[in-house]
Amino acid sequence: MKAFIEGMPKAELHVHLEGTLEPEHIFALAKRNDIELAYATPEAVTAAYDFHDLPSFLTIYYAAMNVLRKEEDFYELTYQYFEKAAQNNVVYVEPFFDPQGHTSRGVEFETVISGIHRAQIDAEAKLGVESKLIMCFLRDMSAESAMEHLELSLPFKDWIVGVGLDSDERDNPPAKFAEVFAKARGEGFKLTMHCDVNQQNTHDHIRECLDLIEVDRIDHGVNALEDESLLQDIADRGIGLTVCPVSNRFVVQSLTSNEIRTMLDKGIKATVNSDDPAYFRAYMNENFIALTEEGDFSKDELVQLSRNAFDIAWLPEDRRQHYLDQLQAYANT
Ligand SMILES: [Zn+2]
Repeated sequence: MKAFIEGMPKAELHVHLEGTLEPEHIFALAKRNDIELAYATPEAVTAAYDFHDLPSFLTIYYAAMNVLRKEEDFYELTYQYFEKAAQNNVVYVEPFFDPQGHTSRGVEFETVISGIHRAQIDAEAKLGVESKLIMCFLRDMSAESAMEHLELSLPFKDWIVGVGLDSDERDNPPAKFAEVFAKARGEGFKLTMHCDVNQQNTHDHIRECLDLIEVDRIDHGVNALEDESLLQDIADRGIGLTVCPVSNRFVVQSLTSNEIRTMLDKGIKATVNSDDPAYFRAYMNENFIALTEEGDFSKDELVQLSRNAFDIAWLPEDRRQHYLDQLQAYANT
């Protein structure tokens, strides 16, 4: 089963580029940019990864991001993730980036997106990994700041396929960003939002995503299973859920394999993703393998999970079909 997973063509739709920053790279960048770190070694950084909820993770996550300063830093970060993606047989990616995590430290928006974009081009040419970028707003910052960043992104509109919403969900409901997302929709962007696992008012947040924001996808969204009307609407509208098994384990002590199986049984477009793989110490294959060990998924179910990702990807139809054919050919061997 492990070999089957490793060889399977996959799409990744929920990975934060800042969450792919490996401890060794934090040290290399700190040295190059002359930044002092609170830890003596990469091992000490990893040892500090003691997450039990979203805020405890975010504290360490934002501190590490501080080493990213120059265009080449963002290039390296992104290209190194794509190398991991290629090793995992991830053939298509829609990565997230959080511009406010950088502009708030004085790094220009253009510096961030130029480095990422250049790495995307090189990864497609050299590694055969295609990608389309999603810009996320930090929900614990103001709606005005999100709107400013949407404006900043417009000159680079062709480099971005959609917008998302992440960071601390407490007291930061989707409705806070209704105007920003309406404008993003008007600009032609696809829409997604995080509804992290077991957050306060999570059912209300999922409902707002569906009815007020009219999202195309929901990131995580596992708690929709507890509410029949939410589940029905998600199924009827064909809205994909980007689930992150190993990431979920830090919050709910489970890889949510039962939940993912229920979604498959109900025809929900559930997908498997790595979220912040450098922090949760698991890239795509490790997520699939851990999930299969917990939930005993069949090859057909694994192929369905991968097919769902291509189905809900923001790809032109010919590219989507290309990948679906590739997956089907693999499943038939
Ligand atoms: Zn996420």
